[in-house]
Amino acid sequence: MTKFVVTPASETQRAAWLGGELPAVEKVRPGLWSIPVPIPINPLRYVLVYALELPDGVAIIDAGWNTDEAFGALCAGLAIAGYEITDVKGVLVTHIHPDHYGLAGRIREVSGAWIALHPADAGLLRERYDDEFIESLVARERALLVRSGVPGETLDELAGASMMIRHMVSTALPDRLIEDGEQVGLAGWDLRAIWTPGHSPGHLCFVSPGRRLLFSGDHVLAKITPIVAVHPQSGPNPLADYLDSLAAVRRFEVDEVLPAHEYRFLELAERVDYVMAHHEERLAEIEKVVADTGGADCWTIATRLTWSRPWETIPAFMRRAANNETLAHLAWLEARGRVRHQAGDVDIWYSMES
Ligand SMILES: [Zn+2]
Ligand SMILES: [Zn+2]
Repeated sequence: MTKFVVTPASETQRAAWLGGELPAVEKVRPGLWSIPVPIPINPLRYVLVYALELPDGVAIIDAGWNTDEAFGALCAGLAIAGYEITDVKGVLVTHIHPDHYGLAGRIREVSGAWIALHPADAGLLRERYDDEFIESLVARERALLVRSGVPGETLDELAGASMMIRHMVSTALPDRLIEDGEQVGLAGWDLRAIWTPGHSPGHLCFVSPGRRLLFSGDHVLAKITPIVAVHPQSGPNPLADYLDSLAAVRRFEVDEVLPAHEYRFLELAERVDYVMAHHEERLAEIEKVVADTGGADCWTIATRLTWSRPWETIPAFMRRAANNETLAHLAWLEARGRVRHQAGDVDIWYSMES
């Protein structure tokens, strides 16, 4: 596969990303700002919050984690743009992951801003972040890992792997639910929501046809591909959703893609084509490993794939993601009749020939 490298829209932003620094607050266009907000314990290091100027304040796309540092960085960034946190009128959240949604409630508390989410993600909030539901979610994750063939000694470590970050999210239910194709209705902006399930069931992108911009959240990024995984809150075939969602944004003629991480860049269609080809390649690799094993559980298959580093050195929460990503590819292959599984205490995956 020929590597396609995007053209950065801001050379200084790209240099900051590569240099391990927090990029500067930038004016992207008249009335539009990019504000990097640091996120803890995460190799992505920051989320890019976009501030859209309105006649009476600003709306922001995504928020950051609920930490004092993030809140301070957002306030300082808004100040550079000429605003205070109390000027925020609305928070458009691309999806419910803590780096995007975690700080939304605190912003609403101080500013009275509305919070908007797609209904598919809004419906997952309480189960994900409320104490009374969390045990059942962990139990379902554990059951999924057992069926995947995760060995007993690593099960507990993997099942609770993301629990330590929950306190960095304030569970704020949204004031607005935004559906696919909906005009967001911000004064001076022709912003339209595009439902792009896959990375998260209710992921939203926002397109401005007039300004030829796509706010892509985690859906399309410059260098990395977002995690698309089977988990207790995913649909049965999230990779099919994701690939459909890539096709849904590819058709937009935009000059610039404004993602939530790394740096903004120019070529939407080419980047989408490359990510699609990457998944095709991954699907072929997994299909071959399934055939070579003559029948194996998902965990065993995952350990035999090529990852960015040796399997033994991958930390627990990332090995869980790797397992669940492998499961998403297996589910896609099964839906296309390319592999099948035999359900049991542990599911065993076979190629169609065996
Ligand atoms: Zn995400
Ligand atoms: Zn993210």
